[in-house]
Amino acid sequence: MLVEQKILIVEDEPVSRQVLHHLLKPLTTILVKNGAEALDVINKENIDLVLLDIHMPIMGGFEVIERLKNDDKTKDIPIIVITVNHSTEDEIRALDLGAVDFITKPFNSVILQKRVRNQLRLKLKSDLLEKHASLDGLTNLLNRRMFDSDLETKWAEGRRLGVNVGLIIFDIDHFKQFNDNYGHSAGDEALVRVSRALMRALQRQTDRVYRYGGEEFTLIQFDTDLEQLKQTAELLRQCIYNLDIPHEYSSHGKVSISIGVALARGEGEHSELLLLQTADKELYKAKGNGRNCISFITI
Ligand code: GH3
Ligand code: MG
Ligand code: MG
Ligand code: MG
Repeated sequence: MLVEQKILIVEDEPVSRQVLHHLLKPLTTILVKNGAEALDVINKENIDLVLLDIHMPIMGGFEVIERLKNDDKTKDIPIIVITVNHSTEDEIRALDLGAVDFITKPFNSVILQKRVRNQLRLKLKSDLLEKHASLDGLTNLLNRRMFDSDLETKWAEGRRLGVNVGLIIFDIDHFKQFNDNYGHSAGDEALVRVSRALMRALQRQTDRVYRYGGEEFTLIQFDTDLEQLKQTAELLRQCIYNLDIPHEYSSHGKVSISIGVALARGEGEHSELLLLQTADKELYKAKGNGRNCISFITI
């Protein structure tokens, strides 16, 4: 896997900016001349390391560190401070605020390059760890941990903005029979095929599927209505049914899913737990209605 890491150089002095840029070749660098521009770039691009000057007009380095560290989206970007007027207080303050390293000018070029490489290597490692911690090992879908966290976030946002939040929960039909008759590894294989089909079906939507449990999956839809939710649920149902994975021990002759859909209205007095329980009840109803079908409700 080739990952292009990006370094943001924040320095008001043009010559110093160019020196850093040349020293770090062939790494990818973006150059800006003050803290305000730095925050702008960080909002738009995936930055892997910030080389930050302290003394700059229009937002100095300390404020940049504070802002980045106070925002969940940017708090994990490593920051190396590079400054000329070195004082012990400045160094302590920068490290206290969350900078990973502090380099004083004039610096040794080779040492600077090595420190930058070290930070990039660590960043790559922590990105990979984070990715693995959010994905399910078998299916590569987002895992239960991510679902819990995303549902909490989306729910809170939905309440704050007064918009609807929908939940779809679905489960493979007669999957125990599938495993018992075709074997556990065939079951695993079916789970992988089902997951790939789900990802493909949702390619053009912003919705994401989570592996909620063994053969149970979920999808959260924000600012939606019952019509949209039903459409998405139907898309999921069809994409699995059309896979045509034979399952002679199921009433439908092939692998299928049953789907429960619940919509929580923006103005309702509910909780995310109730939304989950309600969708789960609908799933149970869909199972009772013959499976390979959808059951839905608004709360
Ligand atoms: P229903 O239609 O009511 O959902 O019936 P079911 O048999 O699918 O439901 P049940 O909850 O009784 O069984 C689920 C089965 O899913 C149990 C287990 O064998 C299988 N399963 C769960 N996770 C995995 C997995 O990771 N790999 C494999 N191969 N099987 C799994
Ligand atoms: Mg300066
Ligand atoms: Mg099942
Ligand atoms: Mg189940």
